[in-house]
Amino acid sequence: METIRSVKGTSDILPEESPKWRYIEAIINSLAEIYNYREIRTPVFEETAVFARGVGEYTDIVTKEMYTFQDQGGTSLTLTPELTASVVRSFIQHHFDQTYPLNKLYYITPLFRQERPQAGRQRQFHQYGIELIGSEHPEADVESIAFALHIYHRLGLGSGNGANQSHLTLRINSIGDSACRPPYLETLRNALQPHLEDLCKRCQDRFQHNTLRLFDCKNESCQQILSQYAPKITEHLCPACEQHFQSVLSQLEVLQIPYQVDATLVRGLDYYTRTTYEITSDLLGAQDALCGGGRYDLLVEHLGGSPTPAVGFAAGIERLIMALDALDLFPEFTDTLDLFIVVIGDDIRPHAYQMLQSLREKNIVCDMDLLRRSVKAQFREADRQNARYTIVLGENEIQAREATVKDMASGEETPVPFDQVENFILHGIRENQFQ
Ligand code: AMP
Repeated sequence: METIRSVKGTSDILPEESPKWRYIEAIINSLAEIYNYREIRTPVFEETAVFARGVGEYTDIVTKEMYTFQDQGGTSLTLTPELTASVVRSFIQHHFDQTYPLNKLYYITPLFRQERPQAGRQRQFHQYGIELIGSEHPEADVESIAFALHIYHRLGLGSGNGANQSHLTLRINSIGDSACRPPYLETLRNALQPHLEDLCKRCQDRFQHNTLRLFDCKNESCQQILSQYAPKITEHLCPACEQHFQSVLSQLEVLQIPYQVDATLVRGLDYYTRTTYEITSDLLGAQDALCGGGRYDLLVEHLGGSPTPAVGFAAGIERLIMALDALDLFPEFTDTLDLFIVVIGDDIRPHAYQMLQSLREKNIVCDMDLLRRSVKAQFREADRQNARYTIVLGENEIQAREATVKDMASGEETPVPFDQVENFILHGIRENQFQ
């Protein structure tokens, strides 16, 4: 029979890899607590309308990449391709704004997009991110950036100055708001109209309804036309947007966060406003974006809530792992056991298992053989599992109610009465911790 394999673009996180995930997640969780963010977990599928409205019908995600299916009742459902829309849906549904004026939320979640798989781009991947909902002020934008960077720094990436710093780049832009963007888009269209024929088919399609996204085109000749003829949005901001942008930049400077203003960094949808930013890394190859963020002051209203400004970021975990691996920044994760119980004779196993369970009650990390292997093989297993201590239990030990505890590093053997085994091991582990 043909073996069944995981679906293209998905991968198993195997036991050897999981410690990396847990390590990263622990840092995200701990920094989220320090920054005073609360975790939100939304379902992995939603009604398709959440994304059609919340991500935007003209985006690649909605037009090409969603995993959409009908349930038995005929409702169109979609596996979450990004979390902002889901979080905002939840925010509105549960009237978050009536409890707190400012909601600082974070998440760690799997996402699903039908993209062409390649290094750093999967069909099921994972993001962590924040949504800071309720503040229109520049310090909220700055907090989201500082938080995103802090996570990388804690992991050893891009912290400090010098060579390491250069592995992360923060690019930032402002795309204005409903006051200054429409006239800018008009100016942009007018400037590009004479060159429309020379743009690629996709750009020609985007020209009318999704003009800002022209800047996302990877085609070199389109890029050339844009750099030559497109006016910069940063030079067409209204006074309020300009002030907001300058305030964000000057606060970044106060925090000594280096940035590059990039007027081509855009989001194509109307409810994205003002700040957009991206953190990239030269450790990643073609898919070099680690984190994308920005303001979406009009989204809550767009999804049916009352007008509420918001800002957030989303960052990929797979790419983060690639970057950390490239610099060898993970600590060494070794599986160790405090104790392995070696059993002589099958009759002894129930006694051994009883001892094992009572030691586990005391949080001692211990195990015994469940394959009924020979004593020699059990010792080999204890070694393979890096057990700090072993205990041999046979008929004699059960009779005498005394075990011989062997320190696997020194080879030293100590007879210990059954009722003192727990203390002996706990004492040994603690001592070890302080060495
Ligand atoms: P986005 O939600 O598209 O703004 O992406 C935010 C971040 O998620 C990116 O910077 C990547 O780190 C990560 N990401 C997005 N799409 C994928 C994907 N298909 N596979 C792996 N990571 C992804």
